[in-house]
Amino acid sequence: MSDNRVWSYSTVLMGSPVLLKLFSHDEALASRVFSLIKKYEDLFTVNRAQSQVMEINHAAGQQSVVVSRPVYELIKCAKAASMVRDSAFNLAIGPLVKLWRIGFKGDSVPGAQDIAARLRITRPQDVVLDDAAHSVFLTQPGMEIDLGAIAKGFIADRVRDYLHQQGVSDGLINLGGNVQTLGNPQGQWTIGVKKPFADADALVGSIEVANKSVVTSGTYERYFEQDGKRWHHILDPRSGYPLDNELDSVTIISADSLDGDIWTTLIFGLGVEKGCAALRQHEDIEAIFVTKNRDIILSSQRQFRFTQCDDSYHLID
Ligand code: ADP
Ligand code: MG
Ligand code: MG
Repeated sequence: MSDNRVWSYSTVLMGSPVLLKLFSHDEALASRVFSLIKKYEDLFTVNRAQSQVMEINHAAGQQSVVVSRPVYELIKCAKAASMVRDSAFNLAIGPLVKLWRIGFKGDSVPGAQDIAARLRITRPQDVVLDDAAHSVFLTQPGMEIDLGAIAKGFIADRVRDYLHQQGVSDGLINLGGNVQTLGNPQGQWTIGVKKPFADADALVGSIEVANKSVVTSGTYERYFEQDGKRWHHILDPRSGYPLDNELDSVTIISADSLDGDIWTTLIFGLGVEKGCAALRQHEDIEAIFVTKNRDIILSSQRQFRFTQCDDSYHLID
């Protein structure tokens, strides 16, 4: 008989703490999971000189590059999300991300002319895909794909699939912002929703889920201050500046963490009202909005239960 004890395994990958929870003591499985994550990180990263995505970027304006199946599939999916009318998601945002350097040494507000110049080389339609060849061509010199907003979601889903393949039906993977849950023999998993701009372990609330992904994106995660303003790391591909609206964070509850990643960014672009309206067309995607004036707004509450933890916030549902 199992005693339902939770075993936790942790490491650091993709610049984030990674936490795996299992209901068995299985160091070997944990290390296979971490190797899997690292394998994908090595394909997708743009924070190192070499990766398959960097090969595509290095060949911008010159030639197409044949890539492996996961890279091609993720880029195809990221392009589709980018091509949605008025989408705030843009896989070709790389040149702007590099210009702003938000969260890295020497970050400061760039000049308007530099931003305008970079906007011209961040058009998702200039990412040309060839399904037959599995190749990607960036048609303009200087273009750069950046999968930073979506890679963790894709990888969290692959970890879930791998655990299922291994016969594991209960567990949790946290990639720092992306939590993907399997079952829990004790019931549900409790996942905290962070309090923006507070101590790392302060929460506005918690949710209970099983077999769902929980993704949070927040302006408090990476930013710098200049001219009395906070400049954070989620950029508006239409203006070239950080997305600025009433939101401090968005949490998406969905089956796939990939959808969670796409929707956190889309919702940041839409704001609360339009975001809620958009989600009415997507019953299985639910959002928790945390606003600057301390409202917590739930788009719906079908797949999870929310418990508020901080009285200085107002819960609206
Ligand atoms: P986190 O890094 O905390 O997981 P996100 O998932 O929101 O945060 O991803 C932010 C990252 O995505 C940025 O650091 C950048 O690499 C990239 N990015 C920034 N703005 C956009 C955008 N509008 N569309 C797609 N990717 C973006
Ligand atoms: Mg993320
Ligand atoms: Mg995201």
